[in-house]
Amino acid sequence: MQNVESSNAYYLSKFNQSFGDKPNEVRDTEHYKDEYVTTFVEKWDQLIDWDRRWETEGNFFIEQLRSRGVKKVLDVATGTGFHSVRLLESGFDVVSADGSPAMLAKAFENAKARGHILRAVQADWRWLNRTIHEQFDAVICLGNSFTHLFNERDRRKALAEYYATLNHDGLLILDQRNYDSILDEGYNSKHKYYYCGETVVAEPEYIDSGLARFRYFFPDGSQYHLNMFPLRKQYLRRLLHEVGFQQLETFGDFQETFKANEPDFLIHVAEKE
Ligand code: SAM
Repeated sequence: MQNVESSNAYYLSKFNQSFGDKPNEVRDTEHYKDEYVTTFVEKWDQLIDWDRRWETEGNFFIEQLRSRGVKKVLDVATGTGFHSVRLLESGFDVVSADGSPAMLAKAFENAKARGHILRAVQADWRWLNRTIHEQFDAVICLGNSFTHLFNERDRRKALAEYYATLNHDGLLILDQRNYDSILDEGYNSKHKYYYCGETVVAEPEYIDSGLARFRYFFPDGSQYHLNMFPLRKQYLRRLLHEVGFQQLETFGDFQETFKANEPDFLIHVAEKE
């Protein structure tokens, strides 16, 4: 009986998200692994649509990296592998890390289907340097990933770990949803740039200053949620300075100049010197 129960529990935790009775109270850095369950991960690529994302983001990240002579990149939020594969195909030396084994497995499979063997490493950002013992010219943390950290200590710890893995003149590229606009004016994204899948509806279900709970509806009727921390732009910029990054530029939907509440996404390019 116990075996049946424990295998049921395993099945449920692998395939179903669990937010309990009070989903708006789940504000926990650890919870991301339970959110990226296998069934959601399998659908993630419908949400991001690689071809359209490729087209809309153009060469922005590649140019940022190349213009600074970057050769070796650590992708700390590999997800299903979109940027790792893109950078490999553009000639960069890439190590692909993520804390979710389900995401890494999918990334490995996606890369293999495109003829690449990913150097995949399972690592939580808060203890990145326990597993990663190399130095990099750049760290990327993209696709609104940093938002999964729910308290300031975890954010400082993760940024310090990224910083430590960078060469002396290295850079970090980290993006986020424009939560200032969502918190101050409400949500009106056409999810044009990042999550380019047309068939998936991604929208906030609940927002306050400590939680952005998003719902993702798929054409087969299934729905999933992510509970995230709504990072304000100036707050994140301050943290980046405080952990030691000297130069910091923030782009709005890949543009250098933008009105505060217009872009869907903000991209921070932070340099060590
Ligand atoms: N970068 C990918 C993209 O743009 O499609 C994936 C983005 S997905 C929103 C966020 C990723 O961050 C997930 O793969 C998740 O497992 C990872 N993640 C969240 N918190 C993490 C942590 N504390 N340590 C390591 N990875 C984490």
